[in-house]
Amino acid sequence: MELESILLPGISDQRPLIIAGPCSAETEEQVMTTARELANKGFKIYRAGIWKPRTKPGGFEGIGTSGLSWLQQVKKETGMYVATEVATKNHIIKAVEYGIDILWIGARTSVNPFAVQEIADALILTGFEGPVLIKNPVNPDLELWIGAIERIYNAGIRKIAAVHRGFSSYDKKMYRNLPQWHIPIELKRRIPNLPLLSDPSHIGGKRELIASLSQQAMDLNYDGLMIEAHCDPDKAWSDKDQQINPDILSYIVNLLVIRDTKQTTESLTELRQQIDQIDDELLAILAKRMRVSREIGQYKKEHNMPVLQTVRYDEILDRRVNGAKGMGIDGAFMKTILEAIHEESIRQQIEVLNQ
Ligand code: PEP
Ligand code: MN
Repeated sequence: MELESILLPGISDQRPLIIAGPCSAETEEQVMTTARELANKGFKIYRAGIWKPRTKPGGFEGIGTSGLSWLQQVKKETGMYVATEVATKNHIIKAVEYGIDILWIGARTSVNPFAVQEIADALILTGFEGPVLIKNPVNPDLELWIGAIERIYNAGIRKIAAVHRGFSSYDKKMYRNLPQWHIPIELKRRIPNLPLLSDPSHIGGKRELIASLSQQAMDLNYDGLMIEAHCDPDKAWSDKDQQINPDILSYIVNLLVIRDTKQTTESLTELRQQIDQIDDELLAILAKRMRVSREIGQYKKEHNMPVLQTVRYDEILDRRVNGAKGMGIDGAFMKTILEAIHEESIRQQIEVLNQ
């Protein structure tokens, strides 16, 4: 892709590029107070959702077009650039009419090719030149994300960036949206010149996770961060648990360690991050295997079957060891690992049996 820099005049090329502001524009006062506080801390790009895609109806669905004049006011008074989310042709027409500088496509929109195409067509219609930021679709589908990026690119937009905001999952124990770092890493490998931003607010879903997720993004060489900031986070009308005030944001940003990407150890850092990621995946897969194993234990118990079935075990061992060899993994090493896993499976099944 032949892309142009998303850095608007006056924006530093030092990492990280930061886009900060409330989840939603709520009132003129909240928009202006937050903007003034952010501008005082040196932030240069302001975000605020005008139209909010809410999971269920009945909540605050955004202030709508009337909030656009507040963003105009932010621009005029603080000199910050302003950004908002668009999901329909009409949003784009209105945002362009009010001079919004940066548009982003949300995760619930980038998932839908019809919607993205409507946006692409509206960009052509209005002559908006970007930057356009494309959030990952809610589901972990890299091709869909790339498809959305291509639709915007095909509309002639050259100032494009991707925003990683994590992926929906049923299990929300740690993160609101699972980071699945390998997906944005693969995006970066596929389109190396596409700037990549992280949205730690929507990944974590809680303010406590913003600092560490931001650091992780910096260590993975992301170009920037989109972070939700609100003058009074606990009173926010949407996403209050994940918003921080401008003071805390500034504190977090100043603590970030930005490693020099030109140093020779850079690739080592990235490789180690990959190892961490892979180990996390290995753990999750092992845990899943143990769960299945326990279910098998339960089945055997109910059907009065013995836990150890040696024929099945020999078959597993042979097949896996041969498979491993085919993938360049030492057979003896694979056998050791499988034996350890099998031993633990048996132990867990016996535990189920005795419950
Ligand atoms: C947002 O940025 O406020 C938002 C709705 O994000 P996402 O599309 O990532 O859920
Ligand atoms: Mn939000």
